[in-house]
Amino acid sequence: MHTFSYVKAKSVKEAGDLLAQHVDAKLLSGGMTLIPTMKARLAQSSHVIDIAGLSELAGIEVKDGKLSIGAATKHVDVSRSAVVKKAIPALAYLAGLIGDPQVRNRGTIGGSLANNDPAADYPSAALALNATIVTNKREIEADDYFQGLFQTALDAGEMIVKVVFPVPAKAAYEKFPHPASGYAMAGAFVAQNGKDVRVAITGAGPGVFRWKEAEAALGKKLAAASVEGLNVDASNMNEDMHGTKEYRANLAKVMTKRAVAKLGGK
Ligand SMILES: Cc1cc2nc3c(=O)[nH]c(=O)nc-3n(C[C@H](O)[C@H](O)[C@H](O)COP(=O)(O)OP(=O)(O)OC[C@H]3O[C@@H](n4cnc5c(N)ncnc54)[C@H](O)[C@@H]3O)c2cc1C
Repeated sequence: MHTFSYVKAKSVKEAGDLLAQHVDAKLLSGGMTLIPTMKARLAQSSHVIDIAGLSELAGIEVKDGKLSIGAATKHVDVSRSAVVKKAIPALAYLAGLIGDPQVRNRGTIGGSLANNDPAADYPSAALALNATIVTNKREIEADDYFQGLFQTALDAGEMIVKVVFPVPAKAAYEKFPHPASGYAMAGAFVAQNGKDVRVAITGAGPGVFRWKEAEAALGKKLAAASVEGLNVDASNMNEDMHGTKEYRANLAKVMTKRAVAKLGGK
């Protein structure tokens, strides 16, 4: 690991000022990704700004039909929150599937969304639920936020403060986890509000994406059979020693069907 200065920020403003002063500064939230990548010298920074304990980044609440979760909220707290379980049970379920107990006790929703790993779970929920990513500078709609492999709409020096999820009529998440890491080989988050159905796929491709053909079919009839004749385009999927493009495309479809079945649509 290269040497760096560690600063424990006392406020979102102080963290933002430090980011503005030091162009290669990095925020430290749960550290589940940042620390290993710095140790492996895949990331380097002159300043590490610890935002983990900031009260401005904490809190889970429902107001005006929207569930708001502070960026520094740990996966374990989302998974166990009575508020989340009541408003969007699928989100609590998703958080409980992330990694292992150690990862869930350190990793945060803000860190996960900022990192935008192509196999992470939260991006699928944010995209399917049409969430708003609230930063220290602006509000970004999920459709504009995710921009491919580890890419987001966040500008340099921009910090996620909270994530706001409109509470859907129904939602479900299903993932096929990689047996070693728990990351999604493919995961499907399906959210429904009347005829409006959104399907977001993670793990299978180079970044989270909406499967719009499935959304159209499920909008007409919310049933697993509605996607039977459809196929995710395999040419855009990931391929590695764990699975071919075709395997991942098929897994995405199977996870979508399972999520829809969970919503009561056989
Ligand atoms: C063994 C292992 C298994 C895992 N399995 C899964 C899994 O199954 N599913 C899954 O979804 N994830 C998984 N993860 C990832 C984990 O869940 C963390 O969410 C993820 O590492 C990032 O969150 P963090 O809080 O640790 O962020 P950090 O590591 O602290 O930061 C990650 C990046 O985001 C930036 N950042 C952090 N907070 C903010 C913010 N508020 N605003 C802007 N930028 C910010 C940092 O500067 C850094 O660049 C796994 C990780 C490990 C180590």
